[in-house]
Amino acid sequence: METEPSVPRRATRRDFLGSAAALAAASAMAPHLGARPAAAEERIAPARKKTIGIQVGAVSFADEGVERVLDTLQERGAVNTLFLTTFTYGRGLAGRQIPGHPFPDHGAQESDEAFFHGGNYATPHPRFYEGTVLKQTRAPDHGALDILEAVLPAARKRGLQVFCSCEDQWRSTVPGVDQVLEIDLYGRKASTLCLLHPDVRAFWTALVTDYCTSYAVDGVLFFNERNGPLLNALGASHFQSIASSRVTCFCEHHQRAAREQGIDFERAREGYRRLDELVKASLEGKRPSDGHFVEFLRHLVEYPEVLAWDKLFDRGKHQVLAEVRAAVKKARADLEVGFHIEHVNSFNPIFRATRRYDDLAEKADFLKVVVYNNCGGERYVRFIDNLASTLFRDVPKEELLRFMSHLLGYEEKGYGELPASGLSPEYVRRETKRALAGAKGKCKVFPGIDIGIPTGKASRKASPEDTHAAVRAALEAGADGLIFSRKYSEMRLANLSAAGRAVREVGG
Ligand SMILES: [Zn+2]
Repeated sequence: METEPSVPRRATRRDFLGSAAALAAASAMAPHLGARPAAAEERIAPARKKTIGIQVGAVSFADEGVERVLDTLQERGAVNTLFLTTFTYGRGLAGRQIPGHPFPDHGAQESDEAFFHGGNYATPHPRFYEGTVLKQTRAPDHGALDILEAVLPAARKRGLQVFCSCEDQWRSTVPGVDQVLEIDLYGRKASTLCLLHPDVRAFWTALVTDYCTSYAVDGVLFFNERNGPLLNALGASHFQSIASSRVTCFCEHHQRAAREQGIDFERAREGYRRLDELVKASLEGKRPSDGHFVEFLRHLVEYPEVLAWDKLFDRGKHQVLAEVRAAVKKARADLEVGFHIEHVNSFNPIFRATRRYDDLAEKADFLKVVVYNNCGGERYVRFIDNLASTLFRDVPKEELLRFMSHLLGYEEKGYGELPASGLSPEYVRRETKRALAGAKGKCKVFPGIDIGIPTGKASRKASPEDTHAAVRAALEAGADGLIFSRKYSEMRLANLSAAGRAVREVGG
């Protein structure tokens, strides 16, 4: 099977129902393959050594048909596990190719901007959502399509595992969101949801309980890429904007949690307001007499509440992870829970210092560790650009990158070359080994492999050769499995085939 013919239109609901009806008929003949929870012994247990997973969204099945997509993933990518995007309002995991980037050589060849919305791509069953204001999240993108109902029977028949990918990405128009938004440093509503808000916590618990009770899935992969206020204030990530006056969360739930832990709210807020002034002055190039770095460090020494407030954010984030895990295990003890560990965990020594792999490993059955190498060059440079505008403004960027690479254990190219070259397969090997060493065998480690994540015009694009090399590097480093990322609808088929070839060579 080579390049598939393009489908230059949005697949209609009737096209989709044709294949869905055939699947329903097939599962009626073999009831144990249907969408009801099945006992473990009833499942077809394929012989597998490692999890070879792929992230895939509803739009691919709607555009290309369930059987055809599964054929492609298995034949080309040697995939045995689907990480099916069931909940997000974000385009990183759902929808077709991001607007402005070329379409891959499969699927519909036109933008979904007109109908992309996001939400829950399965069916929210109301009884689970009684404890939260976030009740109406059904994704309208594909009409009445329930992606789990559509894909599970076919996946089961093939012996594929199916995990629900759920991401903390919202849009402001969702009913109830307005009541649970974070509050920023100056008392304004933010666009993100407060992780200490009881309705938000209840929503995540409800969502994963619904999935794990209503459908015969194998578990959940939870995504939350949000940083705490300190890193956001400093712009210490690869995100492009530095928004020190927009940091969160200073809502009543955060104030109460702070009181319980003996953190002084007023001092924390004052600390972040002064940090905001410091960052703005740095961005304008106003050099303090002791230099930028010393001034920032002095600020942290004088306002330890700034660090404490950042840690409070992480506590909220990790509490949600723990509650998600507990809810999944309560629904069915044999299901697995994994967490996506974002790219900043690789680039940023401050972020690294705020968490431990072995601590995360105790909360999860597996960690999906981002080791995206192609887009990694561009992202690492962007991270350096941000740090070089604030904390390390006194250091030339090329030297800062070299210094940071020493701290991070990278042996990569220089500042000027990295966007075009990307990070190397050796980076994938090292970061996989670091994760395995950190997790200490307490959970499985699945590196997330970059297959065609969109980058800037002059930046590295995935090729079959480097995809092959990255997959080999991760498996040879001892990974327990892999997750091809970020979504099938942005991957070129030749790259997926190269990934599958490496899996078969190494013996996935
Ligand atoms: Zn809050």
